[in-house]
Amino acid sequence: MDTPLTDAKRVVIKIGSALLVEQASGAIRRDWLAALAEDVALLRRSGVQVLIVSSGSIAAGRRNLGLTGRHLKLEEKQAAAATGQITLAHAYQEALGALGFTTAQILLTPSDTGERRRHLNARATILQSLGLDAIPVNNENDTVGTQETRYVDNDRLAARVATMVSADTLVLLSDIDGLYNADPRKDPNARHIPAVDRLSPEILAMAGDVALTAEMGGLSTGGMLTKLEAAKIALAGGCRMLIVKGTGMRPLQAVLDGNRHTVFHAAVKPQAARKKWIAGQLNASGSVTIDAGAEAALRNGKSLLPAGITRVEGRFDRGDPVRILGPAGARIGTGLTSYSAADAVKIAGRQSREIAGILGFEGRVALIHRDDLALDAAEQQTGAEAAPFTASSAVS
Ligand code: GLU
Repeated sequence: MDTPLTDAKRVVIKIGSALLVEQASGAIRRDWLAALAEDVALLRRSGVQVLIVSSGSIAAGRRNLGLTGRHLKLEEKQAAAATGQITLAHAYQEALGALGFTTAQILLTPSDTGERRRHLNARATILQSLGLDAIPVNNENDTVGTQETRYVDNDRLAARVATMVSADTLVLLSDIDGLYNADPRKDPNARHIPAVDRLSPEILAMAGDVALTAEMGGLSTGGMLTKLEAAKIALAGGCRMLIVKGTGMRPLQAVLDGNRHTVFHAAVKPQAARKKWIAGQLNASGSVTIDAGAEAALRNGKSLLPAGITRVEGRFDRGDPVRILGPAGARIGTGLTSYSAADAVKIAGRQSREIAGILGFEGRVALIHRDDLALDAAEQQTGAEAAPFTASSAVS
């Protein structure tokens, strides 16, 4: 059967506290998690890369500290998260480890996904972990965020992570099997929406009617509204999004078996969305001129190595956009640089293996990685909407 998971290559699965943690005891639902790990294994066996975004640190941690039965202040939640995150990481390590997978814990703040330079670092670490066959388990770094600098909910964190790593599919496991045009618990005529092609005002309005947070015991912060906010972020990054009922065992197997869910289709592929975002970085403050060999390599989809650079101009820092000029000086594209202008000058024309000797630290092999590069010929459009990675809409 053809489902949105059938042709997925890189999937982010978002797991909320209410699914993972027993509200009364604060205990992790280990049977559910063990079954979820089977779902992860199923995807991995068909070559899909899997990342998890998991909530639950506060829910699991509040018991440890005797913080039960009442609304917690921000700093109490943060203290709970500090202890609960350990419980959470152990639970994943145990469940995924039982099937032979290595768990990589990634704790993020909005600046890690929103600021270009930190975003490149976080992306590189996560992609490296995936390349080494680990399963990254992400959560917000709750212990250090203040109210203004938090993602606030993990639906949006999951969408930020998905776009940051160019995932093609984001699965939000929820207590409901998708989007309805009205609250199905109140309105017997509420209609399930199986697929959404565009986040039209009508679709966005549906979230207002279906506030699905409170009934899950106040553990999770994400209702339908945050799910649609997540959809906006994911779709802008070329990542489709699924809302799937996660309360039963093996929810992803259920999707593959054809169970009901809602899929939000993305109009573009993640790679195209990323190129558009890079091409739209109009504030390039410097340039690198490259030789004919490097230009040919870039046109063949390769990264820009220091060896192909003949000239560096302007002031820029790591992560900044720079103009790429061909041998004759004409602009051929834009890229996000892995080196500052000062360092680029020193390594220009040199072999990548010489970098550590020249700069005194182990840098990246490429000056501009091919994923961080947009050639003008491939650049269809630029514009404000091409900004799936800014932090601004991460904080409500
Ligand atoms: N990061 C929080 C936690 O792990 C959860 C936030 C959310 O569920 O949206 O407890």
